[in-house]
Amino acid sequence: MISLGVESTADNLGIGIVSSDKQVLANYIKIHVPQEGGIHPREAARHHSENMGKAIKTALDQAEITMKDVDIISFAQGPGLGPCLRTGATGARALATYLKKPLVGVNHCVAHVEVGRMATDAVDPLTLYVSGGNTIVSGYESGRYRIFGETLDIAIGNCLDTFARAAGLEYPGGPEIERRARLGDKLIRLPYVVKGMDLSYSGLLTAITTELMTGKHDVNDLCFSLQETAYAMLGEITERALAHTNKPELLLTGGVAANKRLAGIVIDIAEDHGATPYIVPIRLAADNGAMIAWTGLIAYKAGHQTPLDESHVNPYWRMDQVKVPWRN
Ligand code: AMP
Ligand code: MG
Repeated sequence: MISLGVESTADNLGIGIVSSDKQVLANYIKIHVPQEGGIHPREAARHHSENMGKAIKTALDQAEITMKDVDIISFAQGPGLGPCLRTGATGARALATYLKKPLVGVNHCVAHVEVGRMATDAVDPLTLYVSGGNTIVSGYESGRYRIFGETLDIAIGNCLDTFARAAGLEYPGGPEIERRARLGDKLIRLPYVVKGMDLSYSGLLTAITTELMTGKHDVNDLCFSLQETAYAMLGEITERALAHTNKPELLLTGGVAANKRLAGIVIDIAEDHGATPYIVPIRLAADNGAMIAWTGLIAYKAGHQTPLDESHVNPYWRMDQVKVPWRN
């Protein structure tokens, strides 16, 4: 069975094609880069609709198949930016209707976890999912991916990217902050905000931006301090969730999983608790269509389909609202 997946929750347009034997036949990603400022949802949506046709064709060519070989159409139904989600959903609906193929709406956060399980040997991991729009610690329990901890305001990637923009660093900010953090060594005191199992980044962002504006600090030291503080917070909530759940594995995914410092922290925590660490490779960790295709496929095999009249997008769809019968 072959599934084509459409990912369009934010600035990435992704078309992935995956088979039931876990082969990623294509994983084409086209990124919308804003001319200035952060992502503007309608501009990103326009980028996605302008590139959708070409992206589908490119993915089919990569996979060396035609549309006739595709068995199901999967799409990211939420959470994400409304206009971007609607563009992807419209494309997916059109394909499914025209080709008379089943349509499967997929939760984007669940897809990050499922493709992580597909791409690594992880079976039942606690997952730290860190990206431009999400910061979530979750694990499977009694039929759902339960959320053990999350950000109460902005996501870690958003915090990094917004600071990078203020500091005049290259877009996206994460990789450049990581490079500069290696050159810094002075730890500037910043707000460390963990509340129980949750954390908050908006105060940290305000504080680091205020420090930047004083002009007193080396930018490398600011990057170093931002990373150390932000990732220590992630480490704390992840370690607590791991200790409480006793999961045998710890999975790191999302675009921020590319960060070597964060990966090092995750590996240390896992080893301290006798769990096996897994870092999802970046092509499958950042937003991509293959993760949607794969999750749509396993959901479909477990009996799930999304009728057209239930295929409206949900920008606020939480991963713990999704039933995951394929894990039974
Ligand atoms: P995603 O939303 O999953 O596509 O991930 C995009 C986010 O990952 C952006 O906020 C990037 O700044 C961030 N990112 C990418 N590479 C790195 C890195 N090496 N370190 C930290 N963040 C990163
Ligand atoms: Mg994501």
